[in-house]
Amino acid sequence: MGAYSTLLLAIDLSEESEQVAKRASELAEAFAATLHIIHVIEPLSFAYGGDIPMDFSGIQEEIQQQAQQQLTRFGESHSVPPAQQHIVLGRPEVEIHAMAEELSSDLIVVGSHGRYGLALLMGSTANGVLHGANCDVLAVRVGE
Ligand code: AMP
Repeated sequence: MGAYSTLLLAIDLSEESEQVAKRASELAEAFAATLHIIHVIEPLSFAYGGDIPMDFSGIQEEIQQQAQQQLTRFGESHSVPPAQQHIVLGRPEVEIHAMAEELSSDLIVVGSHGRYGLALLMGSTANGVLHGANCDVLAVRVGE
């Protein structure tokens, strides 16, 4: 196996992101690789668009601003420069794959919960990222 050169760390900005980031940072250092971070914002209209006759643009704007601030702080604390921090709107799996392609990443790092029951049946972002990725995917176990 050759060394990884471009890592893409996907974070949902939850507390568990720290655990996933720690592993990604260690790997990036070990391989002297470039570390990029992506956070995907799911538009409110995806979830509520058809059901609630309401204009979400103000709330959406607020969510995006807060996410941007959180990502900036997260990037600073992990020594990832702004040019390697990415925030995009869409479906997490789709956007993570697209960014990995765009950056020619050779490793995507995600967090993974041990799931069972209904949650397992519904699938997870980690599963979605694994299926259809054109590069290696590391699922870091979180939340235990
Ligand atoms: P989940 O399956 O939603 O619990 O998420 C598991 C992992 O998927 C997280 O630890 C992140 O690595 C990634 N992930 C989930 N949601 C997002 C998001 N909105 N943006 C980027 N990565 C995400």
